[in-house]
Amino acid sequence: MTASSVSFAALPGAPVPESSAIALYARASADFDAKLAATIDLLRAAADDHPQRIVQATSLGAEDMVITDLIARHALPVAIGTLETGTLHAETVALIPRIEARYGRAVEVYRPQHEAVVQFVRRHGPEAMYQSIALRKGCCQVRKLEPLSRMLAGRSAWITGLRREQSTTRAIVPFVETDAAGRTKLNPLADWTWNEVWHYIAANDVPYNPLHDQFMPSIGCAPCTRAIAVGEDFRAGRWWWEDEAAKECGLHVNDPAAIAA
Ligand code: SF4
Repeated sequence: MTASSVSFAALPGAPVPESSAIALYARASADFDAKLAATIDLLRAAADDHPQRIVQATSLGAEDMVITDLIARHALPVAIGTLETGTLHAETVALIPRIEARYGRAVEVYRPQHEAVVQFVRRHGPEAMYQSIALRKGCCQVRKLEPLSRMLAGRSAWITGLRREQSTTRAIVPFVETDAAGRTKLNPLADWTWNEVWHYIAANDVPYNPLHDQFMPSIGCAPCTRAIAVGEDFRAGRWWWEDEAAKECGLHVNDPAAIAA
């Protein structure tokens, strides 16, 4: 532990159920320590390069909980922000105060504009996302992209939990890229495996969404997330009625025109 790192006491050890995500997935790899060191170096350098202008955009998923833990543990001056779309599971929303209590860090919460949501639902109905890809992306625009634009306003860098292993559309995710607005976008877990994510969570007693214990590896809004079956792809539970190529909400599409397509 470095002089600038912070320790967080582990909670009294509760037994890990055999079906928990930790029991199912937590496995260290031979090069895990090297990957972890590189991740910390990347986060530290980004915090130095973007003083007061960098935010972690956390989805509150497992990967993002690892990043939040690293930011807090190493006392990095990085803000933590999340999108509360109004359609998240209660278990997901409950993570916000859990993070604040555990790490003593405020979480910036960005919600959609109430009037925009009311108008969208009035016009297209509460289940518009199932009607067409265009309407699903319209819902994501109102509930995610517009609030994200407020989160990123005035910031020169943001951090995500994207990993190459998550889907074919993310297979070439770089560690550092430039988004459509010219900001630096960091994906420090790009080369981490799902097993490594859970190894870190288990080793550091990181709080996580209990829905991960119910076979939901990728958790988004409640209407657009389901559990997956054995053998299904990691993101098969997200927008499962759409083709794989369409399965991004726009947060991680660098061409804004593609978002509206
Ligand atoms: S993930 Fe689903 S509910 Fe959430 S903003 Fe997108 S379409 Fe709407």
